[in-house]
Amino acid sequence: MINPFSKLGISDDVVNAVKDLGFENPTPIQEQSIPVLLEGNNDFVGLAQTGTGKTAAFGLPLLELIDFKSNKPQALILCPTRELCLQITSDIKNFSKNISGANVVAVYGGANIMQQLREIRNGVQIVVATPGRMLDIIGRKAIDFSNVKFVVLDEADEMLNMGFQEDINDILSTTPDDKKTWLFSATMPPEVRRIAKNYMDSPVELTMGTKNTGNVNIEHEYYIVRARDKYAALKRIVDFNPEIFAVVFCKTKLDTQDVAEHLIKDGYNADALHGDLSQQQRDKVMQRFRDRNMQLLIATDVAARGIDVNNVTHVINYSLPDEIESYTHRSGRTGRAGKTGISICIVNSKEIGKIRQIERIIGKSFTKADLPTGFDVCEKQLFALVHKVHNVEVNESQIEQYMPRIMDEFAELSKDEVIKRFASLEFNRFLEYYKNAPDLNSSADDRGERGERGERGERGPRSSEGYTRLFINLGSVDDFTRGDLLSFVCNNGKISGKGIGKIDLKGVYSFFEVENAAVESLFNNFKGVEFNNRGVRIEKTADGDGGGGGRSRGGFGGGGRREGGSYGGGRREGGGGERKSYGGGNKREGGNSGGGFRDFSGRSREDKGGAGRREGGNSGGADRRRRS
Ligand code: AMP
Repeated sequence: MINPFSKLGISDDVVNAVKDLGFENPTPIQEQSIPVLLEGNNDFVGLAQTGTGKTAAFGLPLLELIDFKSNKPQALILCPTRELCLQITSDIKNFSKNISGANVVAVYGGANIMQQLREIRNGVQIVVATPGRMLDIIGRKAIDFSNVKFVVLDEADEMLNMGFQEDINDILSTTPDDKKTWLFSATMPPEVRRIAKNYMDSPVELTMGTKNTGNVNIEHEYYIVRARDKYAALKRIVDFNPEIFAVVFCKTKLDTQDVAEHLIKDGYNADALHGDLSQQQRDKVMQRFRDRNMQLLIATDVAARGIDVNNVTHVINYSLPDEIESYTHRSGRTGRAGKTGISICIVNSKEIGKIRQIERIIGKSFTKADLPTGFDVCEKQLFALVHKVHNVEVNESQIEQYMPRIMDEFAELSKDEVIKRFASLEFNRFLEYYKNAPDLNSSADDRGERGERGERGERGPRSSEGYTRLFINLGSVDDFTRGDLLSFVCNNGKISGKGIGKIDLKGVYSFFEVENAAVESLFNNFKGVEFNNRGVRIEKTADGDGGGGGRSRGGFGGGGRREGGSYGGGRREGGGGERKSYGGGNKREGGNSGGGFRDFSGRSREDKGGAGRREGGNSGGADRRRRS
């Protein structure tokens, strides 16, 4: 049977190389563009998403069109980021591994230029470059582009977004007029159109899917939460997806850093990727993510451009992008290479309009999803654990010596009992963590909430003048109305109704205001008070309220407070220590806490410091350097 790539006109050496990579059939974009590009005499515009097999779509024809007996640069591939540059270089090296004399060089900022110059001097046919460093090298007169036959502009829209227009002009002006230009872009804004018009001669234009349409393998969901519950919602989503491997997008470097730091402190296997990290740090973070030693990569749009990691299960938009078109790029980090993926937006009720705009642009509808309850999470995690136990690889030779003692220990227990206890070991911790976990869902018409927050900022309502805002672990689920709560507080606190200010009735907890002068006596009077055999707890809220089951110090609501309070969904501190007692052998020590049955393989808490480092003023992989 003829190999489908051979049918498209690809030679045996290259076909064998892609077979080794596991490519059995061309992707649609490859099927459409390879025959056109192989002709070698057309300019070309390909409108295609990331992850569709673009690199091979232009890389394979290039290998057929280049004269590898000559050691002069004949193809120049420009792309927006260092990550993409390295990825394309590595792909082309793989595709050309059976071609003798084939040389590819990666030219990008933030790395030793001498090494790149040396490789160029030694002779290369294909140069893959980010614009800033390329110009630098051209400026040193260290490269001769007079034999360039093909220029590929990959992720052209991103290069323009990043301000590379002028650099691209300058670079292209050093290449021969009769070269062919192949442009790939996920979107086609007027600026990209302009490039096509200025640099190309009647290009062949192919659109893979509808213009701006999102990848069909990606499902889009949104969750509506109060702004202050965003972080808690993020954790809930992660906890509900034990096998999650996700990129979480934030708008600013600061948010990225904050979210990553909080997740790390809360025991999640996360790290930050943004422009304030040095190149070395970024490489380290990306390597850990690629190797799946990290579950959650928290990134800014710029830093995440060009990230090519397969099997990302979720993209989480912790904040929506300012530029709606960026959504396509973000969501394109999942659903790659024929896999399915989910792109999630955590929004507040004011942002629904933006979701509708995105729907129009990508031509797909979002599903409004409800955040799972604490109980749902417990159930999901329990069965993930059961599944893991079932599938664990047993090291027979090592465990053998301990078996008699283990059997001895369990001699009194039935099989059912033993299983129940193993499952409970983690399940109890989860139940404890999620007990009293609030409903984080907010409705689209949550106007009252919105008004209040609008006035007082996202941290939630503050106490009125002369009053102290208190938390109480009773709410509507206890069948309380505001009136019931008022009388309950007045009766037990021995205070008149006049001393109580605003009452904010929630689900499993509520807030109420008390005159400052009455706070102390109220606390004393509430000692030992019970409701339905449950201890009633009253606590001062920190400044605003502690909504969403508790806010950690950094201003995030969350499923569990880490310090200074005990209300909400339970504490996390116990988790790490608990694991230590049995987790040593599987690298879990110190890294985990009560948030889940997560397998935090890898670093201990101390050396998870990646998210905290900020040295260096590197431009974060996006090679934006200008000549000066
Ligand atoms: P790209 O859009 O070039 O970044 O490719 C996305 C992913 O799909 C990469 O991991 C490629 O290795 C993979 N890929 C590209 N072409 C094929 C193919 N024909 N069959 C299977 N996987 C492919």
